[in-house]
Amino acid sequence: ISFDDIKLSKQIRMALDEAGFEKPTEIQTDVFSPIRAGKDVIGIAQTGTGKTLAYLMPILMKLNYAKGHDPRALIVVPTRELVLQVVETIELLTPFMDLRAVGVYGGVNINTQKENLYEGIDIIVATPGRLMDIYMTRIVKFTLIKTLVIDEADKMMDLGFMPQLNAIFEILPEVHQNLLFSATFSDTIAQMAETFLLNPVRIEV
Ligand code: AMP
Repeated sequence: ISFDDIKLSKQIRMALDEAGFEKPTEIQTDVFSPIRAGKDVIGIAQTGTGKTLAYLMPILMKLNYAKGHDPRALIVVPTRELVLQVVETIELLTPFMDLRAVGVYGGVNINTQKENLYEGIDIIVATPGRLMDIYMTRIVKFTLIKTLVIDEADKMMDLGFMPQLNAIFEILPEVHQNLLFSATFSDTIAQMAETFLLNPVRIEV
């Protein structure tokens, strides 16, 4: 298996070459087509499997280039560390693309994050509580979100983020793509998928 087996854009292919990544991981190969096709996906994959690149590659291709003021993709993760890691991975994949990503997380002053968003944004990477704080400021609208990723969903549940996740679903457009990633497939995750996802494809590595 090589990156030639998934239909990546030239810009992403070049970025992967530059990063020294030689071939896709299993989760990267498996989720690419369903995500590209716009399906809801449940990906069961641990950290270290390359799950972040797996969802980012098709999302970045879909976004294509910087457009307008309000975000079109939203990635929700449980911790500040993960926000920073995902933003870093977006940067790794987009040196040849013109896309704007901002990370927002709690525990720091909200004003700098608001300023970053004010300039216009394509992708927001966020922890759940701070995302709702940002929503309340009305600095950006969430009406153009086409893709939502919930990463490390099991950890999200452990940390008690279910009420915030419910609130996030309330502010998103009725029709959007959902990508749910979790290290394990528990009853809670199954129930979450049942509540939020539409005919999801389940992929386990
Ligand atoms: P993740 O599972 O998303 O936390 O990624 C684990 C690590 O694997 C990260 O440091 C990535 O940069 C790296 N990685 C992801 N995809 C590949 C790949 N196809 N080849 C080599 N390294 C990769």
